[in-house]
Amino acid sequence: MTEKKTVKMNPKDLAFFEALLIDRRRELVSAQSEGERANVFHSQKDQGGELPGYSNHLADAASDYTSLETNFDLAAREGKYLVYLEEAIQRVKKGTFGICKICENLIPKSRLEAVPTATKCVDCKEETKRKEREENRIEMARLFAEQQRREQKLK
Ligand SMILES: [Zn+2]
Repeated sequence: MTEKKTVKMNPKDLAFFEALLIDRRRELVSAQSEGERANVFHSQKDQGGELPGYSNHLADAASDYTSLETNFDLAAREGKYLVYLEEAIQRVKKGTFGICKICENLIPKSRLEAVPTATKCVDCKEETKRKEREENRIEMARLFAEQQRREQKLK
């Protein structure tokens, strides 16, 4: 058997996941624009409020800064998820959705239902994580050795 196996998810499942992914994307996009509306409302309310004392003003600025940061983190995370969703939708269109990019076997439907943006089966994901940990360990050891060499020179 030399011919390359062509694994493909059946069209019915592809259609199911396409609908699921588009649904998720729509939810995410509408959640984001709701968040923006809430922010606009918040700043309008602030402008029309009582004159704040100096210390109050500082406290407000600090909490604004924190919430701004939190919003930013959230937006970045959601933005990334949106990219993953887009990519998954593209994979559905190409017919490569649900195929593990490492071992090229079909990813179990139950996993895809839980994580529709998954690009690897559980085994390959674990294997990738294990390799990353191994690489991190090697990198840590290298940095540690480098630092020790620097300390030796200083002596
Ligand atoms: Zn795999």
